Amino acid sequence: MIKKVEGIVLNTRDYREHDMIVRILTKEDGKQTFVVRGVKKVKSKQLASAQIFTHAHFHFSYHKGQTMHTLTNADILQTHPILRNDLLKQTLATFFCEVCETIEEEQVGEMFHLLVEAFTFLEASEQPYAVASLFMSCILKMQGMQPYVDGCVRCHCKQGICSISWKEGGFLCQDCYHVSMGKCYDKEELTLFRLMSKAQMEHFLTLESYTHWSYEHFLLHYHFFEYYSGVTIKSMKFLQCLQSMNSS
Ligand SMILES: [Zn+2]
Repeated sequence: MIKKVEGIVLNTRDYREHDMIVRILTKEDGKQTFVVRGVKKVKSKQLASAQIFTHAHFHFSYHKGQTMHTLTNADILQTHPILRNDLLKQTLATFFCEVCETIEEEQVGEMFHLLVEAFTFLEASEQPYAVASLFMSCILKMQGMQPYVDGCVRCHCKQGICSISWKEGGFLCQDCYHVSMGKCYDKEELTLFRLMSKAQMEHFLTLESYTHWSYEHFLLHYHFFEYYSGVTIKSMKFLQCLQSMNSS
């Protein structure tokens, strides 16, 4: 029986001489793994199906009891060429895919829509770190790990906010802050962090124009994710290398 799912390729790996295994985040059926046969042969028409970031309606032959099915063909919706041709955007898009792999199955529907929007903005935007910060902030909210930014996380005082601590879980005021908890931030940086923490994907275009969003902005949100999920995303290492190359 041939079945169809809409999904995005999260990662791929070689399998046997001519085949590949693809991991797909589907719109309605969780994350699924498929075999793409003969894809490494020169004349394969399945190449786009076996590329990371491809968004398509995937057709596969379904056999009850099998854990891994074979993709037969795909109606391609988007291959995201811009994400493949820009090293920073490619790394961030790979990072997004890796984060998707850590998300619980019951949240994959929400995750799918978030990934579609994040890819669309990342392709079009000249501020990749604005997209990455918002993506990370949305993940934190989805996972119930969002920072407390309506006052000091310790005493709930709204005055004298001076720092952000992922270990404490959000803003800190001058009375609760200690130098061992991290650095102090100026009012503008604290406001930007609060805005980003509260925002949803639909606010992207407004947020994008606020400031120049940097790697450091993104890193703050990532620290919360890493600390509370206990997961380290592999592509962060490469992102750090890219960042140090650009700043040196
Ligand atoms: Zn306090």
